[in-house]
Amino acid sequence: MGRLQKILIPFLGLVLAFWFYSARDNFKPEMLKGKRVIVTGASTGIGEQMAYHLARMGAHILITARTEAKLQKVVKRCLELGAASARYVSGTMEDMAFAEHVVKEAETLLGGLDMLILNHVGTSYFGYFNGDVGHVRKLLEINFLSYVAMTVSALPMLKQSEGSIVVVSSMAGKVGFPFTVPYSATKFALDGFFSSLRQEFSIQSINVSITLCILGFIDTESAVRAAAHLLLVAPSPRAECALEILKGAALRRRELYYRYGATRLPLLLRDWAGELLDYLVRSRYRLDGLKRS
Ligand code: NDP
Repeated sequence: MGRLQKILIPFLGLVLAFWFYSARDNFKPEMLKGKRVIVTGASTGIGEQMAYHLARMGAHILITARTEAKLQKVVKRCLELGAASARYVSGTMEDMAFAEHVVKEAETLLGGLDMLILNHVGTSYFGYFNGDVGHVRKLLEINFLSYVAMTVSALPMLKQSEGSIVVVSSMAGKVGFPFTVPYSATKFALDGFFSSLRQEFSIQSINVSITLCILGFIDTESAVRAAAHLLLVAPSPRAECALEILKGAALRRRELYYRYGATRLPLLLRDWAGELLDYLVRSRYRLDGLKRS
């Protein structure tokens, strides 16, 4: 038995390592060529960068956000970069009818859907929780309920194409983060909903993948403006982050961590050394700049 264990455990380790690294490297841009993709929150930041990568890969892209002028610029750039087609729909995700309308537009304009990338995020504050319940409700509508509404509307098309749902979340949706209480709550809700839904897809043999993306600090304008002066960590580049999300989506990964070392590794502590992880999270902040509640 002892000898068997000595051989079996390293062998299993090798098999797992091979599987893990080969899965990481298997991505080819052609995987997304001609695919019909919705990207929400694509007027700026990571969503905008995902639109550009998809354009270079030759996908059909439908982007959405509120600011029409920015969306027009992104669409123009996507067409220059080689998108098979690029269009936009502008409106607010506070309105569930709008969320459903975006999916209907994909059906009308693209004739179906292969990938739904849920990435938009409503504006919140960075500071101690201020007790504003109305803000929590509004943020849940934008960051969570509209994701659910779009998923429900898109499912018939995604089932038909055996497509993918990509949910952009955060480290703040896996472990408690201070100063972003309403935002964290919405990201935890995404994990609960989409991880449970994935289980049901598996039981029912529904071949629609769900990739939950756990991101660390990324150098988008809004994030840097809100938090760079309070965080002791440097942000990672948004274009690289966007590409890693698309790779994870194309490979139908269950979860995607970016950057891996700064997200996946600390999270290994969560179940066994939760207090240590909490301490490590708190130690990333420069607290002197924050007003007490
Ligand atoms: P940005 O603030 O750069 O972009 C947010 C996008 O959402 C914009 O296109 C914005 O456009 C749109 N948006 C905002 N409010 C609404 C609304 N009410 N209805 C519809 N669209 C709206 O965000 P990031 O690129 O930084 O973040 C993208 C994703 O990555 C988010 O889900 C975020 O939580 C996640 N993430 C980001 C991190 C970071 O450090 N940047 C860290 C961890 C996770 P408009 O204003 O025109 O509507």
